[in-house]
Amino acid sequence: PSEVQAFRDQHRIAYYGELSVEPVRSFAMLFERFTFKAAVRRNFDRLKFTKPTPIQLQALPLALAQQDFVACAPTGSGKTLAYVLPMLHILSEPQRVGYRACIVTPTRELATQVYELLKVLSQGTKFRINHLVKARPTQEGKETDQVKKYDILISTPLRLMYEIEHDLIDLSQVQYLVLDEADQLLELGYLQQVDTILAACTHSGLRKQLFSATIPPEIEDLAQSIMRDPVRLFIGFRNA
Ligand code: ADP
Ligand code: MG
Repeated sequence: PSEVQAFRDQHRIAYYGELSVEPVRSFAMLFERFTFKAAVRRNFDRLKFTKPTPIQLQALPLALAQQDFVACAPTGSGKTLAYVLPMLHILSEPQRVGYRACIVTPTRELATQVYELLKVLSQGTKFRINHLVKARPTQEGKETDQVKKYDILISTPLRLMYEIEHDLIDLSQVQYLVLDEADQLLELGYLQQVDTILAACTHSGLRKQLFSATIPPEIEDLAQSIMRDPVRLFIGFRNA
C-alpha cells in the first residue's frame, strides 16, 4: 500500500468513498497546513493534547477541507474536537448574520460538553455561541437582532424542533451542520426531528457531518439520504 495508506492502516482508519484528503501526522502538521487564529491556537495549546487521536488524524483535515462525511469512532475517541476545531477555523470571524454553524446532540448533557469545549477554544475570539437546551423557551422572544448576534448554535432535537415549528429560529444561514452521536439520535427516535432541522437549513452551501459511536445500518441510510456520496470513515473498530 501507499505510505499514506500504511499510515491509515496503522491507526485503523478505514474508509469508503472518495477520500483525497491525507491524514495529518501530528497537531504541528495540522497547524502548518491550516493557519488558525492566534487565539484559537493558544486556547488549543492550553488543552495540552499532545497528539491527535486516530479519528482526529483523518477527520480534522477532512472537516477543514469542507467535505461532507460520516465518521464512526468509539465513545471517548475525541470526536468533539474533530469538528469543533475545524468549525472555528471555517467560520473565521463573527458576522452577525445569524447562525452559521449548528450542532445537534441527542441530550442536554452532551450539548453541554460540546458547549464547554467550544467556550474554551473560542476564548478571546468574538464568536457568540448559543447553548439552547431547555425543554421550552422561557423569556426569549421571537427572532430579533438580538438573536442574530450568535454564530454557533448547540441544541437538542426536541428543543430545536420547538423553535422551528414556532418560527422562533432562523437556520437559513447555517453552512456547517453537525449531527453528533447520530446513532443515539436515531435510537431515541429523533429521525423526524432531524428531518425538520435539515429542512430548515436551506443554505445552498450547507456542509453536513455526522458523527457516531456505532455503525448501525440506519446511520448509513441516514447519511445516504442527506448527503451526496459522503466519505465514510470507520475508525478503531476490530475489522477496520
Ligand atoms: P467522543 O465524542 O468520541 O466520545 P470526546 O470528544 O468526548 O469523545 O473526547 C473524550 C475525551 O478525550 C475528552 O475528555 C477529551 O478532552 C479527550 N481528548 C480529545 N482529544 C484528545 C487528544 N488528542 N489527546 C488527549 N485527550 C483528548
Ligand atoms: Mg461525542
